[in-house]
Amino acid sequence: TITSATITSATDTHCPYCALQCGMRLTPAGRTVEVAPREFPTNRGGLCRKGWTAAEVLTVGDRVTRPLVRDADGDLVAATWERALAVVADGLRDVRRRHGADAVGVFGGGGLTNEKAYHLGKFARVALGTSRIDYNGRFCMSSAAAAANRALGVDRGLPFPVTDLDAASTILLLGSNPAATMPPLLSHLQGARERGGLVVVDPRRSQTAELTAEGGGTHLAPAPGTDLVLLLGLTHVVLAEGLADEAYLGERTEGLRELRLSVNAWWPERVQQVTGVPVGRIRDVARRLAAGNGVYVITGRGVEQHVDGADTATAAINLALVLGLVGRPGSGYGTLTGQGNGQGGREHGQKCDQLPGYRSISDPAARKHVAGVWGVAADEMPGPGLPAVELLASMGRPGGVRALLVHGSNVVVSAPDAGAVRAGLGGLDLLVVCDFVLSETAELADVVLPVTQWAEEEGTTTSLEGRVLRRRAAVPPPGEARSDLWVLAELARLLDAPGAWPTEPAQVFDELARASAGGPADYSGLSHRLLDTGVAAYWPCPAHVIPEPGSRVTVEGDVVGTPRLFADRFPRPGGRARLVPVTPVVREPLGQRGGQLTMITGRLLEHYQSGAQTRRVPELLAAQPRLTAELHPATASRLRLVEGDEVSVRSPRGSVRARLRLSPGMRLDTVFLPFHYAGAECTNLLTEAAVDPVSRMPEFKRTLVVVGPPDDE
Ligand code: SF4
Repeated sequence: TITSATITSATDTHCPYCALQCGMRLTPAGRTVEVAPREFPTNRGGLCRKGWTAAEVLTVGDRVTRPLVRDADGDLVAATWERALAVVADGLRDVRRRHGADAVGVFGGGGLTNEKAYHLGKFARVALGTSRIDYNGRFCMSSAAAAANRALGVDRGLPFPVTDLDAASTILLLGSNPAATMPPLLSHLQGARERGGLVVVDPRRSQTAELTAEGGGTHLAPAPGTDLVLLLGLTHVVLAEGLADEAYLGERTEGLRELRLSVNAWWPERVQQVTGVPVGRIRDVARRLAAGNGVYVITGRGVEQHVDGADTATAAINLALVLGLVGRPGSGYGTLTGQGNGQGGREHGQKCDQLPGYRSISDPAARKHVAGVWGVAADEMPGPGLPAVELLASMGRPGGVRALLVHGSNVVVSAPDAGAVRAGLGGLDLLVVCDFVLSETAELADVVLPVTQWAEEEGTTTSLEGRVLRRRAAVPPPGEARSDLWVLAELARLLDAPGAWPTEPAQVFDELARASAGGPADYSGLSHRLLDTGVAAYWPCPAHVIPEPGSRVTVEGDVVGTPRLFADRFPRPGGRARLVPVTPVVREPLGQRGGQLTMITGRLLEHYQSGAQTRRVPELLAAQPRLTAELHPATASRLRLVEGDEVSVRSPRGSVRARLRLSPGMRLDTVFLPFHYAGAECTNLLTEAAVDPVSRMPEFKRTLVVVGPPDDE
């Protein structure tokens, strides 16, 4: 138990927000802490505005400090833990009895620690017996994960340390704006920028794209949703001009013939017609990638959050493979994971199709191994469930979810077609939300369970480079807030679940490590004790590389595990990477038909995800108080709008209010809206719940909208 008496000195930990997991030092300051940056390889002593103000989230005014249960009048009122947990357990039992185990759904989050993510997956399958578990990472990393798994055999965001980027000559950055989302990363792009090798692909001239203006970099602004065609065009040029690394392709890949056929028809002139990127720039970028010494291809959500996101990420991997970059020292392919534990959150069983260790839930050997750790029979464990969008869409439908347990996610704001999600939640028999604030989703709940957050708890996260990090407690939790681990253990007890349900994070981690043994994300050589020695631990880190469990072992300096993947082989049958041919469905250009624009969504520097945390930090809210719609001045003029106007943005699914912001960096056919706001400013009221057929990622970056005066004027 963490008390103020047990915490008296500075605590080294990591930022609660994004996957860069910047190093922080926390000093006790009454009921809260003071944040200072700490030298760490990813941030080099820097923090962004969100990180500097992270302590304020600990003491926000509407922090939930007691369990809340909805009464007969429809109000959420304080209750004892005993009563709140009894209401939850009785409700879950009742739904299960009347509608079957799969009528209970579980929705997790990419911000949960590894220990919580692991226990949530185990709780769903063992205590509830449901297959219906997924998490908000489905909206975030699923396309890149699906692409890497099928092409490279494993998905680890960056399969190399971030610091490897420092020496790059050329970085092709697709659909990512780290200047706003993770600013300290820019120090790792600076070398390529100074060498004139920073190439940014973004339909918007983002803050990161602006960095290409000096030093000879390049900004390509394809029409929204045409990144796949652009990548096919770049690969076409590399192959057609004899710039491919033939020796690498012959030794380390398979499928070259099929890949050649798939890109044959994408000559630059045709690519220009679809994307709008000039032929000369397509050829120039392809040649620069081939000529560079130290070249990286990096993707982000901008190219992944599409209904063809998995194929687009696959095309990026194909390009990197054709250039011979993957697994070579000083070059590579990677994707920038977004959420704080976006990497670890997808490795330990929150995904509907996976078990701990990042193994398939359909793999008999994986099921047998994990069932053994959990103390249950493998054939009694549920199989694959429903991915996030389908899980939410099933609410209230025949055979769908009737009760939902939400941990660490604010789906009313973050899910596509948010109006339908809100309606679905309203029709549930039971909605339980574990959160530390009354988020927009928690406001709808029948029961709200107050839980601890980042600086109040012990645990681990796994950063965007696959490095396992210790999160440490620096301040006691307020009121009656308890760890999600304790909540799950208590519910498991009330539901008479088999197996052990430890609540100490170190013990849960040890169980997670055993469950992961032999999987792609093998943590079996790791423990809190080992991580506390200060080693840099990258998965896979199987137990056999640690001769004395728990001891400090030097494998490469102070590094344990595998900082760089694919050096000798790919974890696929035969050890080769697979060039997966992908074919675009050339969609009708959305453009400005009938006054319509293409809406793209993204993030602001000051806010994080659904904004549930950052909208409660006065400094961040003051800097970005409300939803803005960013338009090119010429487009605004055509619509008879001026800077600062109040506007409505409408799609067939809904309408939002926004303040107009003019930006010459926008395409004429596009409007940009951030997705951090709620209520009448919730951008996801406009987006559609259409999903990628491979990854089940929703389409967030290509929505047809109309921008005009407010609906009520
Ligand atoms: Fe670092 Fe990301 Fe936190 Fe900013 S939000 S301080 S970039 S970890």
